[in-house]
Order: sequence, then structure tokens, then C-alpha cells
Amino acid sequence: MSDVLSPGEIKLPDGRSVDFANLDIAATAPCLRSVADVVADLLPYYGSVHRGAGALSQRCTREYELARETVADTLGHGPADTVIFTRNTTDAFNLLARAVPPGTTVVTFGAEHHANLLPWRDAVRLPAPRSPEEAVEALERQLYRGKGQTLVSVTAAGNVTGEVWPVARLAEVAHRFGARIAVDAAQLAPHAAASLSGLGADYVAFSGHKLYAPFGAGVLAGRADWLEAAEPYLAGGGASAHVSDDAAVRWASGPARHEAGTPNLLGAVALATALRTLRERSFEEPEAALVRRLRAGLAALAHTEELRLFPADAQRVGIVSFAVLDRDPAAFADALGRDHGIGVRTGLFCAHPLTRRLLAEAAARKGADRAPAQAIRASIGIGTTVEHVDRLLAALR
Ligand code: PLP
Repeated sequence: MSDVLSPGEIKLPDGRSVDFANLDIAATAPCLRSVADVVADLLPYYGSVHRGAGALSQRCTREYELARETVADTLGHGPADTVIFTRNTTDAFNLLARAVPPGTTVVTFGAEHHANLLPWRDAVRLPAPRSPEEAVEALERQLYRGKGQTLVSVTAAGNVTGEVWPVARLAEVAHRFGARIAVDAAQLAPHAAASLSGLGADYVAFSGHKLYAPFGAGVLAGRADWLEAAEPYLAGGGASAHVSDDAAVRWASGPARHEAGTPNLLGAVALATALRTLRERSFEEPEAALVRRLRAGLAALAHTEELRLFPADAQRVGIVSFAVLDRDPAAFADALGRDHGIGVRTGLFCAHPLTRRLLAEAAARKGADRAPAQAIRASIGIGTTVEHVDRLLAALR
């Protein structure tokens, strides 16, 4: 039995029934069976969190706070850290951007997902590096020149290329210069949850729906001081400790300060369950073998070229994006879905500047006159089979 829930077989126009090949897992992952079971077991007891005195509320409050502890344990956090449940990674970075003290210099790279690009309007944006070493050197040069309080905000694994960034080394550099570092682990966490505690980051953000826990929760975890000092991200009940008759407010401290409104209990419990499952059972090796198979197959085709920022042998999670040089990418992806039962993603993947640049480079490597306007991304994770990868390659052929 598969570890994730799937729709099973679907019918193709030619009458064949095939197992749907979900190769769009990097966008949103299917639900882990362990997550669905835990959520189903909790549903009969579903009640308010932090708001009631009855047995249901007590149980739900306990489950919610246990979920927070699981996230903190997974990240290896100590007493100076906090875990805030958000809606997703985008929400987490917007919250952090509001909490950064005025006057802080934010440093990012020009290879970030929009979630870690657009909240930092005034950031120092270092050019997208061509190797992990170049990223470390560029940051070192920047921090050597820089002055004052600094936050570095980087991805742990890119959503366009799947390449893994040298976060531990970047954290070491940041800390050597007295800076803090925030890490976008949206794409790393689903593939390497067990390594989240080794990142050395001050802040980590990720999304439940990419972690096989599609119940609408995400996480911003890290050092509590800036978050404690900041105005609440959302104003409302739960975030307020006391409100006077004229609506003057004393805000709550702790995670509640940034979790106004009714908490997403099922989202938090699902996310924590997924983290536990992914910590206990590693899926990394089978995923890596499927990525190697897909990349080798793509490399053998005349009309496709993979996108990459780092050298070809750089470490990757289960993501491979490529240019198709002689077809309209959107029509091509539609045909993959309709005629072959394969789900992929097309577009610029919420990383427009980077994807446009990598498409142009891929087209140039193939000697094409013009770069396609969109790329295709195939992403691999729990539930992906050798047959799915081979079916994509056959369809591309
Ligand atoms: N960061 C990366 C690397 C991503 O791949 C994504 C989503 O694709 C995000 C951030 C944003 O995640 P969400 O849409 O869950 O907020």
C-alpha cells in the first residue's frame, strides 16, 4: 500500500486506464496516509483551541501545543526560540518581514522564490550564484563590507532546479559576522525533514501542503526576541491579552501574539504528524534514484534541456525543470495530462527572474534561436514510481 493517498487509476482518451502520475509534488504534495489517519482520529474530538473549558477544548488545545513541540523538537530549538503556525511559507516570510527591527539590512540572492523575494522590498539582492561555493563567497564579501544589524534570507533548496543550497555554511558565515539567517525550507523539508535541525538557521519557514500534510498550516520558527517585540501580524482575538473599554490593547506574548483568530488545529496536527513520519522514515534514497533516472532520460532527448543554476553534479531534491525547444510548453503539458495521465507544472514557477534566465541559458546550450516563454517542471516525491518517470520520458520522446 502506498504511503500517500492517491486517486488511483484514471481513464485516458485511448481507453487505457493508468495510475495518475503526479509529477507536480513540489507544488502541493499528496496527503500522507499517517497524516490522514491522525486527522480522522482527531475529528470526533474537534473543538476550540485556547478558548473553551470543556473536554474537547482541553484535548484540542493539548494537541495543538503538542504539534508546536514536535516542530520545535524537529528543528532542535531551545528556550530562546518560538514556533508560530502560519498559513504557509509565504505567510511565514511576510510575518518575519514585519517583525524585523527597523534599520536591519536584509540580504537575499536573486534566485529566490517570490515568497522570499517580494516581502523584502529594500533588500540587498546578491546575484544568483553559479555554485554553492560562489554563494558562500558572495555572502562573505557582502557581510564583510556591510554594517549594522543584518538578516540573511535564503532558500534551502530551489523550487526551479531542486538544487540544494549550502545553508549550514551560509549560516556559519552569517553568524561569524553577527548576522542572523532565515531559511526557506519549503522544498527541503519534504525531502530531508530529519536534517532541518542541522541547518544552523535562526529562522526556518515551510509549508504543510508541501510536506504531505494538506490542511492549510505552515511554520515560521526561530528566535523569539524580534517576534516578541513586533506588533502582532494580525490584530484580533487570541493576540490580545487585555483590551480596555476604549479598545486600547495590551498584546499577548508568545506565539499567540502572531496567531490571532481561531488556530488551524487540523493543519498544525497534520504538519507535526508529517514531520514525525518523515523523520522516522527516510524517502531520500528512492527519490534520488528517480531523479537520476529522469535527468539521464532528459539528457538523452534532442529537444529538451534541463534548467540548472549550479554545476550539473550539484546535490538536488526531487525537482527537475526543463525547456522543451520545439513545442508550446503549455500545450505540451496539457497533452501530457490528457493523453498520458501525467501531471506536471508549466510556467516560471513563482521565480520569474531566475526561470527566465535559466530558460535562456538552456536554449543557448541547445543552439536554439529563441528561449521558450515557460519551463516544464517534473517533481518527484513519495508515491512517485519508476513507471511514472518512464511514462514521462516516453511521452517526451
Ligand atoms: N519557497 C519555495 C522554495 C517554494 O517552492 C514555495 C512554493 O512553491 C514557496 C516558498 C511558497 O510556498 P507557499 O505557496 O506554500 O506559501
